[in-house]
Amino acid sequence: MERIYIGMGSNLADPAEQLRSAVDALAQLPQTELIGVSGFYQSDSLLPGQPRYTNAVAALDSTLPPLELLDALQAIENGQGRERLERWGPRTLDLDIVLFGDRLIDEPRLKVPHYHLQERAFVLYPLAELAPADLRLADGRSLSDLLTACPFVGLERLPQN
Ligand code: ATP
Ligand code: MG
Ligand code: MG
Repeated sequence: MERIYIGMGSNLADPAEQLRSAVDALAQLPQTELIGVSGFYQSDSLLPGQPRYTNAVAALDSTLPPLELLDALQAIENGQGRERLERWGPRTLDLDIVLFGDRLIDEPRLKVPHYHLQERAFVLYPLAELAPADLRLADGRSLSDLLTACPFVGLERLPQN
């Protein structure tokens, strides 16, 4: 059993509802228990001309192997109408593996810790709601150092999920 953190994002077709549906789907994964869900956060798209994003992080305990989990996450994305037209294009649902226990994964399909974690306040702050305050990543970085280096700018925490 390993503790896994999933970054969730949506900016199409009722984003908050997309995230709620994704949480339900995560809770039904085999060999997996849903441990918690952060608050929902809104922020402007990193690329101009896209709708605002809603993001959150979910914590899972699972015995699924990492690539099987990735397959399952992509099936959930596809089930919620994810279309891959352009890189970083608007999407109904993005599910990224942010952390997977204390594993360092560097495979063509899967890099963990997620390689943009450190520059994404919309991942770090929801992650900090769920993770232990003294969390250390598998590569030795501490979550508190990453938070200090990535200010809470442009994020709006929604009053409810
Ligand atoms: P970003 O990676 O910048 O957040 P994105 O989430 O929009 O971009 P996707 O189109 O969802 O990118 O995924 C592209 C590919 O990234 C996937 O097919 C997957 O194989 C790969 N990938 C690598 N590492 C991860 C990870 N930690 N979690 C999810 N997908 C990953
Ligand atoms: Mg992503
Ligand atoms: Mg993705």
